[in-house]
Amino acid sequence: MLELQKGIIYGPVHSRRLGRSLGVNVLPAKVKYCALNCLYCQYGWTGAHGLEPGAAELPSAEKIVEAVRNALVLGDSPPAYITFSGNGEPTLHPDFPAIVERVRELRDKLSPASRTAVLSNSTTVSDPRVRGALARLDLRIMKLDAGTEETFRRFNQPCAGVNYGDIVDGLAGLRDVTIQALFAGGEAGNASPGHVDAWIETLGRIAPSMVQIYTLDRGYPSREIGPLAKQELMAIARKLDAAGIRASVY
Ligand code: SF4
Repeated sequence: MLELQKGIIYGPVHSRRLGRSLGVNVLPAKVKYCALNCLYCQYGWTGAHGLEPGAAELPSAEKIVEAVRNALVLGDSPPAYITFSGNGEPTLHPDFPAIVERVRELRDKLSPASRTAVLSNSTTVSDPRVRGALARLDLRIMKLDAGTEETFRRFNQPCAGVNYGDIVDGLAGLRDVTIQALFAGGEAGNASPGHVDAWIETLGRIAPSMVQIYTLDRGYPSREIGPLAKQELMAIARKLDAAGIRASVY
């Protein structure tokens, strides 16, 4: 399992999907704060599971903006992306919309060649404030691993208050969205043909610009799942292609 990020800025790291990416962790340093508890999470089980931070201590917007400013001023060369990600779900920070605006301003001033991105689990996508902030970013990579409510509950283990139907509706109303999905085999996996077909049908409603699929390649907390073979991922990509959906396999 990966260790949690220790601070606000990490990297720039080399990301297979984004190239040189400056990570911005707007979440606590000591606990993963997320509305999901995915069976495959590289950080292990969720410590602060909810839509409200509770006792989890979040860095202030001021601190986050200052850390991004310092990283851009002191960095060797501009990162390809400034990416909101880190110890859980970044859009849960109550000041996420204001942080996005201020990071955009910094980008325009200090690193105009960089693009802004978020890796989100989509659980807040129906919140109008979050939707507004997502629309201000250059790239929205949004998670959807499940094609049914039942798979979503088993595989992603949402906290109370998170509804699969709201996520699908929210994603369908978002412009230019990239969907990312992890596929795993095993008793609790999401890769059975029936499930993949249901997921592709749901994607038809969302009409994403691109879909990124991948499988387990790091540690994961559940014993009821396992990695897929590359050919199995390729078979899913072929189904997407047949449905007219652009896909990349990682
Ligand atoms: S949404 Fe991401 S951070 Fe949250 S539990 Fe799932 S994999 Fe981990």
